[in-house]
Amino acid sequence: MAYAYDDQNIFAKILRGEIPNNTVLETDHSLAFHDIQPQAPVHVLVIPKGPYVNYDHFAAQASEAEITDYARAIGEVCKLVEVAPGNDGDGYRLISNAGEAGVQEVPHLHMHVLGGRVLGRMLKKFDD
Ligand code: AMP
Repeated sequence: MAYAYDDQNIFAKILRGEIPNNTVLETDHSLAFHDIQPQAPVHVLVIPKGPYVNYDHFAAQASEAEITDYARAIGEVCKLVEVAPGNDGDGYRLISNAGEAGVQEVPHLHMHVLGGRVLGRMLKKFDD
């Protein structure tokens, strides 16, 4: 499957240094920064530096070094912002939206790290 990556998306601009960000963590292959419109007391986005549209694109085409770095960066962020249970935190939720049904706004893979309050049930009950 061909994945089309738009290098004019806002996270690509952040990675090129064209737009500022409030960085939480930078690693060889990943960047984490605070969401500009937080939906919880803790709301951090973790992105790979490579040009991947969404999670399935990344999982199919990223190198093992990128995948390992990204997985570890997400876990490290949970500790840094003190939401990791048993590491000064009360818990967190990871969300990665993809495509139209997922209501993805920015077409560069990002993992939302949410916490700092009880987040409620994951989704409303599906009954139709
Ligand atoms: P999604 O709907 O999953 O694509 O989420 C995109 C997220 O990016 C939203 O939570 C936005 O608030 C966030 N966002 C958009 N522009 C910026 C920016 N310049 N810096 C930080 N977060 C941003």
